[in-house]
Amino acid sequence: YQGLRLILGDQLNAKHSWFSQENKNEYLYVIAELQQETDYTNHHIQKVCAFFKAMENFAKALTKAGYHVLHLTLDDTKQYDDLPALVTHLCKKFQVESFEYQRPDEYRLLKQLGGLSLDNLQLRTVDTEHFLVPFEELDTYLKPAKHTTMEFFYRKLRRRFNVLMDEDEPVGGQWNFDSQNRNKLKKADLDSIPEPLCFANNVSDIIDRLERHQINTIGKAQPLLIWPTTRTQAQELLSFFCDHLLPLFGQFQDAMTCHSEHKWTLYHSRLSFAINAKMLSPKQVIDAAIAAYQENSNIDIAQVEGFVRQILGWREYIRAVYWLNMPDYSHKNYLLAQRKLPEYFWHGKTKMRCLSEAINQSLEYAYAHHIQRLMVTGNFCLLTGIDPNQVDDWYLGIYIDAIEWVEMPNTRGMTQFADHGIVATKPYAASGNYIHKMSDYCRDCHYDVKQKSTDNACPLNSLYWHFMVRHEDKFGKNHRIGMIYRNWYKQDEQTQQATLRRADWCLNNIESL
Ligand code: FAD
Ligand code: SF4
Repeated sequence: YQGLRLILGDQLNAKHSWFSQENKNEYLYVIAELQQETDYTNHHIQKVCAFFKAMENFAKALTKAGYHVLHLTLDDTKQYDDLPALVTHLCKKFQVESFEYQRPDEYRLLKQLGGLSLDNLQLRTVDTEHFLVPFEELDTYLKPAKHTTMEFFYRKLRRRFNVLMDEDEPVGGQWNFDSQNRNKLKKADLDSIPEPLCFANNVSDIIDRLERHQINTIGKAQPLLIWPTTRTQAQELLSFFCDHLLPLFGQFQDAMTCHSEHKWTLYHSRLSFAINAKMLSPKQVIDAAIAAYQENSNIDIAQVEGFVRQILGWREYIRAVYWLNMPDYSHKNYLLAQRKLPEYFWHGKTKMRCLSEAINQSLEYAYAHHIQRLMVTGNFCLLTGIDPNQVDDWYLGIYIDAIEWVEMPNTRGMTQFADHGIVATKPYAASGNYIHKMSDYCRDCHYDVKQKSTDNACPLNSLYWHFMVRHEDKFGKNHRIGMIYRNWYKQDEQTQQATLRRADWCLNNIESL
C-alpha cells in the first residue's frame, strides 16, 4: 500500500471523499478497537457496544465496496499501549509511505495524533467533512472566553446555508418558536406517543470480548442492541422520526414523564448517536426534516424549526465553543464546586423521583433527553455544587452519544456554569416547581414539592435558595436574575433561615436523599 488511513470510531462517514476516489488499491484503511478508548472514562456498556458494532459494520461495508480494510478488535490490539503505538507498528508492518487521518473532534485524540512522529513518512490530516461550519471558520463566529448568544449564531447559519429561509426572511415570519415548545404532557397525550423504533443488533460477541478484557463499564447490557449501527438503520431511524415524531417534536420538547416501556423517548429523535458517529450528516438530517415539513401538512413550522435549531444551531455552536476554548475549558470551575457525586448516580437508588427516573432510564438505555440532562441531573449537580470533573465524567460515560466535544460545553458550560457564562448567560438553576410543571414526577415522589423547609420538603426547593444565596456575590448583579434576589429578600427572616437549614441538612445528608 502507498498509505495507511485511520478511521476513528466516530468517523463512520461513508460519504467522505476518501471513498469517492478511484484509487481503492492504494490505501489500507484501519479501524481499531482500543483499550485506551474503552478506558478513558467509565462508559455505559451499550455505548461501547454501539461504537464497536458500528465500526465493525462500517469495516464490512467498505470491504464490500472494494476497499482494503483492517478491522482490529481488542483481541488484536491488546499488546499496543495506545493508538500511536499501534499506528507506528502498522506503518512499519505494511511499509507505507504515508499516514493519513481525519482531524479528530476530540482534543485528547487531536493532541495524541498530532504528536506522532513517524520516520520518513508523510503525515496528512484531512477534514472529517461532517459539520456545516468549516473548522477554520469557527473563530469568525465566536471568540475564545467570550459569550456569543446561540440565537445570533444560529440566524447567521440559517442565512448562510439558506435553511428555512424565504429570501432574506425566516420561513413563518419569525426565527424562533421556542415559546410554543414548552407544553407539558397531559394524561391523554401519553397514549398517543408512538413506540420507539428499536433495532435488535446482536452484540453478544462484543459483550464477551469486554468481559474477556476486563473492561469496566456501567449500565445495563443489551445483547440485542436497540441503537442503530449501520447507515441503513440510521436512515430508518431518521425516516421514522420524520414520519411519526416530528409532528409533535417541538410541542413536547421540554416535557418529561415517568418512563415506562413504551414512552421513554417521547417525541425525541434519538439520532444523536448516529449523527455523532457520523453515520448521518447534520445536513442530511436537516434536509430530511425540512422535506417532511414541506410534504406533510401535519408538521407545522414550530416543530421543524425547533428541530433544525437543535442541529444547525446548538450542535454547531457547542462544537465552536469547545474548539475555541480548549484546553482551558476542561479546567473551568467558576463556582468552585467540589462536592463528590452521590453514589446514586451510579445505581439510581434515591427517593427523589425525578432523579431516580432520569438516572435509571440512563442506566437502562444509555439515554435521557435534553431536559432530563439539563433540568434534572444537571440542575441537581449545580445546586449541590458537585465537582465539574465528576459531573463531566458521569455524562461522558453514561450517554450513548457522549463524546467530549459535545458533552463538555453542555455539562460544564450549560448546566454547571463552570465556564463563567461562555455558553449560558445565567445558571440553569431551578426549584422543584419547574420539574412539577414539566413532568409527572412529583406526583409519586417521597418528597412534597409544595414544601420548602419541612422534613419531607422537596430538596430542590431549599437547595435552590441555598445556591442563590451562597453565590450572591457572583449573580447578584446579573440583571437576568435580579428578580430572584428581590423575591428572596421579600421573605421574612424566619422563613429564610428555615429554608437554609433544610438545605444544609440536605447537603450534609446528600447520600441519603
Ligand atoms: P433530539 O431532542 O431529537 O434533538 C435532535 C438533535 O439535536 C440531537 O440528536 C443532537 O444532535 C442535537 N442537539 C440537541 N441539543 C443539543 C445540544 N445542546 N448540543 C448539541 N447537540 C444538540 N448531546 C450529545 O450529542 N452528546 C452529549 O454528550 C451530550 N451531553 C449533554 C449533556 C448535558 C448536560 C446536556 C444538557 C445536553 C447534552 N447533549 C449532548 C445535548 C442533548 O441533550 C442531546 O443531543 C440529545 O438529548 C440527544 O437526544 P436526541 O437525539 O433524541 O435529541
Ligand atoms: Fe423531584 Fe422534588 Fe418533584 Fe420529588 S418533589 S420529583 S425531588 S422535584
